[in-house]
Amino acid sequence: MDRSILLIYTGGTIGMKIDPQSQALAPFDFSHILEEVPELKKFGYKLDSYSFDPVIDSSDANIPFWQEIARIIEENYTRYDGFVVLHGTDTMSYTASMLSFMLENLGKPVIFTGSQLPIGMLRTDGKENLISSIEIAAAKDEEDRAMVPEVCVYFESQLYRGNRTTKYNAENFRAFRSANFPVLADVGIHIKFHQELIRYPKWGKEFKVHYNLDRNVAIVKVVPGMNTGLLTVLTKVEGLRGVILETFGSGNAPTSKEFIDAVKVLVDAGLIVVNVTQCHAGRVDMDAYATGVALKHIGVVSGEDSTIEAALTKLYFLMGKYSDNKDVKESMEKNIRGEISKL
Ligand code: ASP
Repeated sequence: MDRSILLIYTGGTIGMKIDPQSQALAPFDFSHILEEVPELKKFGYKLDSYSFDPVIDSSDANIPFWQEIARIIEENYTRYDGFVVLHGTDTMSYTASMLSFMLENLGKPVIFTGSQLPIGMLRTDGKENLISSIEIAAAKDEEDRAMVPEVCVYFESQLYRGNRTTKYNAENFRAFRSANFPVLADVGIHIKFHQELIRYPKWGKEFKVHYNLDRNVAIVKVVPGMNTGLLTVLTKVEGLRGVILETFGSGNAPTSKEFIDAVKVLVDAGLIVVNVTQCHAGRVDMDAYATGVALKHIGVVSGEDSTIEAALTKLYFLMGKYSDNKDVKESMEKNIRGEISKL
């Protein structure tokens, strides 16, 4: 089978092995991936690799890092059938969400994976994650089109839409969860793609990369008894454009005049205020309780059933795209890349 895949190694546990001299874990030279995982040769695919230099712990992910991944994909877009991005697990959901917005009209798979144990360790989960990700990135349908032309996260037998995922377990091999959207494929003896859930681009429409991102967003977790001064002080942060309130349950927050007034100060200062629930599953419904109604009334935007990772990166993307906050607010409540489900 004449398929070509580009492996992009950005860092993280997966690409580490024990250094024989120091006995410590250190990243290996990724251009030697076929020596490390000889099983990959059996695919018969053309497998090329690109390694970041230096590689990063994903805690250091930031806008230039995301732009670099997007640039590598754009520059190699016509040359490969799919892309596998090896990335630390800690912020993989942020990066996958961000890339889903940056890559418009994506017609090829971009599969993020990593591992909890380094690929050079006996019990590693990295090999299976890598091998299955490559197979998924190379998979085509009956019409010879990419089976999953989306930005995905593959981990421990499950393929997720990237912008629906959250890392929820720091130890288990099953480290990710997509609580508000079903998996796109289950991997067992066979890879079962759930085609009815997969998003396809408008074939023939040009692939486009959006590099302009604006990071001026704050996330505030609403807690019982909170000091509302923590909200109003945000109007003093230079350049800030967006505030995500992580609320209770279906988008609820304290009903006190003090709290509502503090949120109103933010809205009146021209900030985009978005309501995302602290719950991992379910959605914001600002019509359900008086508390939500009050927020909606003063102009708070609903994050619907978005993850916090998707809401944050969507704001980065929309604020980079639009200079008028009205446009950002309108698009926030729309489904752009499958990141929210509209009722
Ligand atoms: N700290 C690492 C990272 O996110 C953990 C991992 O690779 O899973 O880069």
